[in-house]
Amino acid sequence: MRAAVLGAGVTGLVVARELAKRGHEVVVYEASDAVGGLVMSHEVGGTPIEAFYHHIFTHEHHIRALIDAVGVGDKLEWLPSSVGIFHRDASGAGRVWPFTTPRDLLTFGPMRLRDRLRMGAASVLTPYVTDWRKLDDIPAGEWIIKTMGASAYTEIWEPMLRVKWSEVHANLPAAWVWARLAQRARSRDRKDMGEKLGYIRGGFKQLYEALADELRGRGVKIRLATPVRRILTDGRRIDGIESDDGVEHFDEVVSTLPVPVFAKIAENLPPEYAARLEATEYMWVICVILTLDRSVQPAYWLNVADRTIPFGALIEHTNLLPREDYAGHHVAYLGRYFPPPSYSPEAERLATGDLEEIAEGWLGHLYKINPEFDRSWVTSVAPFRTSYAAPLVSLGQGKRRLPFATPVEGLWIATMAQIYPDDRGQSEGVRLGLDLVKAMSLDLRS
Ligand SMILES: Cc1cc2nc3c(=O)[nH]c(=O)nc-3n(C[C@H](O)[C@H](O)[C@H](O)COP(=O)(O)OP(=O)(O)OC[C@H]3O[C@@H](n4cnc5c(N)ncnc54)[C@H](O)[C@@H]3O)c2cc1C
Repeated sequence: MRAAVLGAGVTGLVVARELAKRGHEVVVYEASDAVGGLVMSHEVGGTPIEAFYHHIFTHEHHIRALIDAVGVGDKLEWLPSSVGIFHRDASGAGRVWPFTTPRDLLTFGPMRLRDRLRMGAASVLTPYVTDWRKLDDIPAGEWIIKTMGASAYTEIWEPMLRVKWSEVHANLPAAWVWARLAQRARSRDRKDMGEKLGYIRGGFKQLYEALADELRGRGVKIRLATPVRRILTDGRRIDGIESDDGVEHFDEVVSTLPVPVFAKIAENLPPEYAARLEATEYMWVICVILTLDRSVQPAYWLNVADRTIPFGALIEHTNLLPREDYAGHHVAYLGRYFPPPSYSPEAERLATGDLEEIAEGWLGHLYKINPEFDRSWVTSVAPFRTSYAAPLVSLGQGKRRLPFATPVEGLWIATMAQIYPDDRGQSEGVRLGLDLVKAMSLDLRS
């Protein structure tokens, strides 16, 4: 069987690996000039680092197995993480509160002790809810207020949901929040309730390059800088792929492209299915990598719960990794998710505005987090933006989840938009790839 895999991110590479292992002839098409997809790389002090911050959690066994399988397991390190919230209270005073372990909640001053205890108990118990489908049509805010109390929502959850979902958080299903609580409960150390995060020293790039080398060794052709222009079908059966290399015919085609890209280039799809694809939207993100001559604050991950600050998180990479890995530089990300430009003038400005200007504007707010901050601490600024950062989920999302098989025989899709209520991540990409090839194999046998 001859198969084309579209996209050389984690999902596409895993699909290609599984198909090659089963003896199929595989060609991977990738638009950019590197493998790894969203785990794209930049360099600081001569060391590769992700353009968009990346780490893995201890319970993510699919990505851990892949890291071992391709021979980079010796570079994976588990490092103690620390989390904080920058919170501004009603009087206008702002400060950083530690939020690494559930115990930190007990000292979180903006809430009354009674409310803290209620939120703590609810956070411990909710992961035991087993049927998330019941939470799919309930707004996250409504569910949080009911289970954890109003002040847990206004002081902690609403600002945190804004960090990830911007203004669209109002339409977020409770199932998404439940899945995050369940995930964090699985990744905590039972003894000290702290959290360790995994990182491949020297960058995740090494994982994807080693995986691509392994695939080439198995005979897989990886065509970089070769965007697919059209997916050719007669509406019933797959025919082939058109790229700058011309038209090639395949028995099976697997797309791991963002759904809107797939919808645009796949021909003759039944209108009802095409409409479902078109309704699938994604959040955008801007990440700015700063190198600094000193640290801004002590946490690895700082949620910024202050509406006067235009970014939602400050992630100090070198509060997790040693800065010796980056020629002694301190490295930090400023991150902000936002919905597609049609949602608001602000989203439009972030989507189309000059990235350097946006990044420079954000720097002007760091003094609010650390009053001593001075622009001269920053030695370089590298901003990145993508329009397909994460699927935009909304009420009833579970019922809209797209299946792997499309109505066109021999045409399949595996994307971040199909993992709800779980959150997108490299491990989920591996799982998607494995599950998709299992589904294909069953279909090919029948
Ligand atoms: C800001 C941010 C932070 C993240 N943090 C983490 C984290 O800490 N831990 C974690 O595990 N995950 C994290 N993720 C998520 C993780 O990066 C993704 O879940 C994962 O990389 C998705 O892989 P994928 O292969 O499904 O899709 P993608 O990586 O999007 O791959 C799709 C590929 O298709 C290619 N393509 C597009 N159009 C075409 C075309 N016409 N022809 C050919 N190729 C095309 C693209 O270039 C891309 O390479 C983060 C993501 C973002 C944006």
